[in-house]
Parts: sequence; structure tokens; C-alpha cells
Amino acid sequence: MTYPALFIDSQKIEHNARIVTSMLKGRGIDVVAVPKSTLCHPAVVNAMVKGGAKAIGDSRMENLRRARQDGYSGEAVLLRAPSPARCPEAVEVSDVGLNTEVETVRLLGRAARRRGKDYKVVLMVDLGDLREGVLPERAPSVAKEMASVPGIILHGVGVNLTCYGGVIPTTEKMEELLATKEAIESVLGTRLEVVSGGNSANILMTMEGKSPQGVNQLRIGESIILGTEAVKKTVVPGCHTDAIVIAAEIIEIQRKPSKPIGEIGINAFGAVVTFPDRGVRCRAICAVGRQDLDHDGLTPLYEGIEVIGSSSDHIIVDVEGATGLEIGSVLSFIPSYGSLLKAATSPFVEKVVI
Ligand SMILES: *Cc1c(COP(=O)(O)O)cnc(C)c1O
Repeated sequence: MTYPALFIDSQKIEHNARIVTSMLKGRGIDVVAVPKSTLCHPAVVNAMVKGGAKAIGDSRMENLRRARQDGYSGEAVLLRAPSPARCPEAVEVSDVGLNTEVETVRLLGRAARRRGKDYKVVLMVDLGDLREGVLPERAPSVAKEMASVPGIILHGVGVNLTCYGGVIPTTEKMEELLATKEAIESVLGTRLEVVSGGNSANILMTMEGKSPQGVNQLRIGESIILGTEAVKKTVVPGCHTDAIVIAAEIIEIQRKPSKPIGEIGINAFGAVVTFPDRGVRCRAICAVGRQDLDHDGLTPLYEGIEVIGSSSDHIIVDVEGATGLEIGSVLSFIPSYGSLLKAATSPFVEKVVI
């Protein structure tokens, strides 16, 4: 194998999935596991299913197709609405989709009919985060139109918070979602199966018993993969936080001043950066960069080192407090969600299952 590499510990992911799904199961909540930060890596999908996920969800059709090709045969949820042109493909690679536009749902229904199947739609409601969703007051009429489309089963309602506006899921937000569901049911005269209350940002409130009865599904990526919940970034009790680590080799290790020498302008990314003067320090350069991750989203797994910066192809690490490092030494880091997403997407990063 070569570095940089992402090491994927499938047993740890399975363990995390089991912790999360059983905690939520006890509260009447099914888990749609979301492996998108690993591009639906087969080892991750497998571990999630073994760990108790009811379905898998991804925002990219390419990833769901990959999961199918790798043998995943359970329910697949498309988390991002398809463009009109890609509705036939959406129906091919997924069974359920989160949607907000009647026109798109008509196209999904037509594609489903052509394949001789029904497609399930979860109507997303915007409760203030201002990413996807219809405003609650419009939900009943939109739901009615969607439910009347041949080939479409209106499966439920959903919400996504914390992603764009940073709005935190609360009991009130969940009650608003449940009220929207009831308003839809009274217009339709039928019951909706699913109330999809959110993502890893819902874990904390749910553990604290603040998620009202009736919210019966969460779509969980981060908490299973990184072992953290998404509001305060605290560790989910019992979960591993090092199920996936990124490792890179040192290609330079030298003693240098900590403050740049010369006239200071903008750097390669258009920013003027200032550095504290800490005197001469031992610094190492690792052969991985912004093309593969975000340096400020890395937690070093080596005593006495500190990530101080990066360029496209290098991360610069202060290693003054570390011993035993030389060129060729491998440094490992726990990635943030954003770093993991980049590293998984980078063709320069080898993916290694352990
Ligand atoms: C990515 C995504 C999720 C999963 O989010 P996590 O924070 O990783 O749990 C859930 N729902 C939607 C719509 C998403 O796009």
C-alpha cells in the first residue's frame, strides 16, 4: 500500500452502528445509516448493515449505485433531490427519496411506472434551517399533489437541521414536524409511515429523552462513522472515535523559525496569515494537503505534535514536543467530517480496510 491512506476499521464502525441503532431502537427510532462521507465504501456499508441499520442513505446517486454493485440489496434512500434529467436514474438506484418539488416527484413517478414499481417520497419540511424543504404551511397542499402522482407513495415527512443555518433540533422543532405530519394526514385521510427527524445533530436531544414520540426515523452518518454527535461534537457514549484515521508520511523534518521571514502578502489561498513567534521549532511536512483534507479538521494521534498549517500538497506540523520522528515516519490523525469527505473523495488517498 501507499500513503496517504485512510484506514477503515470495519469492526469499529459496526460496533458504533450497533450502539447507535440499539440506543435509538429503544426510543422507537429506526436508523437510515449514511455512509456518504466514505462514498459508500463497501466495508462501511456492510458494517452499518451488520450493526443494525434499517436502510442506507446517500445524497449522491453514484454512491448508491456503487453500494448496489457491491451487493447491497436493502432499502436505499436518496438524500438529495435529483435534477429533472436524473429522475430515471434516481428511481433506478434508490427506493425512497427526500423531495420538495411536485414537478420532480411527477418525473420520479413516471420513471417508477416505466420500471413497473412504486417510488416512496419523504416530503422535506423547512423548519428554519433554510436548506431544503417546503414551508410548513404549504406542506399539506404539496403533500396532496405528490400523493396523487401515479407511481408515488407518500411515505412520510422529514426535516434536516444544523446543516446550513445551524438551527439546532429541539423538542419544539420535532413537535412542529409532527404537527405538520398530522395536518397532512387530515388532508389526505391516510396515515404517513415515516417521520424522519434529522441527522447526527438529533442524537444528543434524543439521548436526553427530548425527542417526542412519533419521530420514528433518523438519518445518521457522523455518529456511526466518527462516534460523535453533531451539535456539541461530544462522543456518543460507547462509540469509537478512531474507526477511520488518515495517515501520511513525513517528507521533511527540520528546525526553522516559527514566523515567516520577509514581506508578508497573501498566501496561495488568498489569505493573509499571521503566526505567533515561538522561536525556532522542529517542524515536519507530511505529504498530504488541502486537495485531500482540511488541516484544521485533524486531531493528531501522536504525542507532542500540533498541526499548524497546510498548502495544496503539504501539511505542516509542529513536532517540537515529539520524539522518534524522521523522514518516512507515518503520522496518523482523526479526521473531521469535512476532512473525511475530502480524503474519501481524493484519488491520491488509498483506502485500506483493517
Ligand atoms: C448527510 C445527510 C444526513 C446525515 O448527516 P450526519 O450528520 O452525517 O448524520 C442526513 N440527512 C441528510 C439529508 C443528509 O444530506
